[in-house]
Amino acid sequence: MSVEAEACSFCGSSVHRRGRAIAAPYVSMCKDCIAATLQILDGKETTDPLRKSLFALNPTVLHCAFCGRGPGDYAALVSSKVGRGICETCLDAGAMLAQSS
Ligand SMILES: [Zn+2]
Ligand SMILES: [Zn+2]
Repeated sequence: MSVEAEACSFCGSSVHRRGRAIAAPYVSMCKDCIAATLQILDGKETTDPLRKSLFALNPTVLHCAFCGRGPGDYAALVSSKVGRGICETCLDAGAMLAQSS
């Protein structure tokens, strides 16, 4: 994890200000985006208007930006309008990290 994005790769927020939840080389996701994508994965509507329009449970993105898993390798993937997606496994890991920090 020597190279980390300084801004959330999904909403563009500074991860220093919002709180970094997960980071991989060149990809970061803030806590707010983690919370919103978890809601979407649960089939709930997020109350966050920015993230509601940003994320969707649809197959426009096929690979997880964090672990690189592709179709058939993950149970579910939330994709975003910025062309990046995150799989259920990485989201679970990020949620645990977000809670512990
Ligand atoms: Zn974000
Ligand atoms: Zn993943």
